[in-house]
Amino acid sequence: MEKTQQNKITFLGSGGGRVVFSSQIRNFGGFVINIGNHQIHFDPGPGALNSLAKNKLSPSKTDIVFVSHSHIDHANDINAIIDAMTMGGVNESKGILISVPSVIKGTKKDYPWLRKTYKNQLKKIYTLKSGDEIEIDNLKFHATKTFHDDPDCIGAVLNYNKISIGYSSDTSFSKILKQEFKGVKILILNVLRPGKDNWDTHLCTDDAIKIIDEVKPELAILYHFGAKMINANPLYEARRVQRATGVRTVAAEDGMTVSLGGML
Ligand SMILES: [Zn+2]
Ligand SMILES: [Zn+2]
Repeated sequence: MEKTQQNKITFLGSGGGRVVFSSQIRNFGGFVINIGNHQIHFDPGPGALNSLAKNKLSPSKTDIVFVSHSHIDHANDINAIIDAMTMGGVNESKGILISVPSVIKGTKKDYPWLRKTYKNQLKKIYTLKSGDEIEIDNLKFHATKTFHDDPDCIGAVLNYNKISIGYSSDTSFSKILKQEFKGVKILILNVLRPGKDNWDTHLCTDDAIKIIDEVKPELAILYHFGAKMINANPLYEARRVQRATGVRTVAAEDGMTVSLGGML
């Protein structure tokens, strides 16, 4: 788990929910996957650029940004990241955004997160809905279903060589999720609440157990922690998941890296 490894996941932040958002006891910069020649930044919430610098990752190396939905803790820094990725639009040969209509086009109630200036700096934009699949070089993205209060919200399964990484994004529990992530080697789940504290827009630990037990990835990563989860200690919750499922499970921390080297 060294930062110099080429193929890796770096968690810039691990916070979720309004209380943690406002106190910033955990950061909200999203996570970055370095795989092959690609650097993919998922859900750049506020402070993303600062967290990249802290983790010695350069936004100019990012070529793909994935924004799962229009909530501030996932989409806030989209324009800043695009500007840094394309060097203010000078580097026209790169810059791909994968996101959803609420982020790119806006909704009846609100403007899009993506401002025109930064939209014009991008090389390509993919506007996805769940079930869609796209291929960029040797990377395959499949947009997964979510059950969340932005109806456009998607998760993702990313495939590259032998590796597949699933990301739930924000969602409540549904049996469908077990199907969506079937066969992934690494499963990142946004588990906002501990224990059996289930909610209609997010997962709790007991929900995560049901999904992980069925999917049986090689590694499960709990991510996006609300205040109750942090008070319960995500490390203990991860141990409980591991005991219940037999799947190696870790709790994300700001700055944590997971090597993909052995899996490619
Ligand atoms: Zn969220
Ligand atoms: Zn959300």
